[in-house]
Amino acid sequence: MTGGPSLRGDHHVHSAFSDDAVSTPAENLAAARAAGLDTVRMVDHVRVSTTYVPDFLAVVRGLPAVDGLRVLTGVEAKILDADGGIDAPPEVLAALGGPDGADRVLLADHQYPGPDGPWSPRVVVEHLASGALTREGAVETLVSATVRAVRRAGRAQLAHPLSLLPKIGLTEDDVPDDLLDELAAVAVATGTPVEVNEKWRCPGPRVRARWADAGVALVASTDAHVADDVGRYAWLREAVREGA
Ligand SMILES: [Zn+2]
Ligand SMILES: [Zn+2]
Repeated sequence: MTGGPSLRGDHHVHSAFSDDAVSTPAENLAAARAAGLDTVRMVDHVRVSTTYVPDFLAVVRGLPAVDGLRVLTGVEAKILDADGGIDAPPEVLAALGGPDGADRVLLADHQYPGPDGPWSPRVVVEHLASGALTREGAVETLVSATVRAVRRAGRAQLAHPLSLLPKIGLTEDDVPDDLLDELAAVAVATGTPVEVNEKWRCPGPRVRARWADAGVALVASTDAHVADDVGRYAWLREAVREGA
């Protein structure tokens, strides 16, 4: 893959600070070292009401240094609405990149960013079926909300981009080139890394190639929820080998 991600990085690894993950940051660090990684980004899920971020960052920053392994931090938050609102505590977003803050916020399409707040995939499917929402409109809103959220965050990373599409009965083929280019342009302009995500197997070859050609910084991620998965790529290794 031209400009494709290095598989010596894992830019999205969860610890037990996320309620659906099991390993400690120390266990994830040991796994990253065992996998021979040069970069690992420790990330946990937040909502606007989350209070654990200072404790999480203190634990990660207290980990012993490992030669040749760069440890980055992040919080993962969903894009809330069509305006690009982000489901993270304002003080966490304000501190991004600062001495007491996480490095980046990972913006996730866990729900559809509706005009009035997040819609579950089921609601989107109903609106598509009834004609209240068109496929083109749904794709356009998803992309423009993501662009706005990237601008708002300043220091973002795109987690599993476009992973919502299959959940609402669409595919990456439903995203026209101009919208892909819009997302690429904001990612390049803001220095926002974009994941190629092993767990969600996205984005696919067409999108990866287009974004790589546009100069987007593609990074590999497992989205591991257990230390054994850190730095383990199967789908992504194949994708890189196929060269596009
Ligand atoms: Zn996610
Ligand atoms: Zn995640």
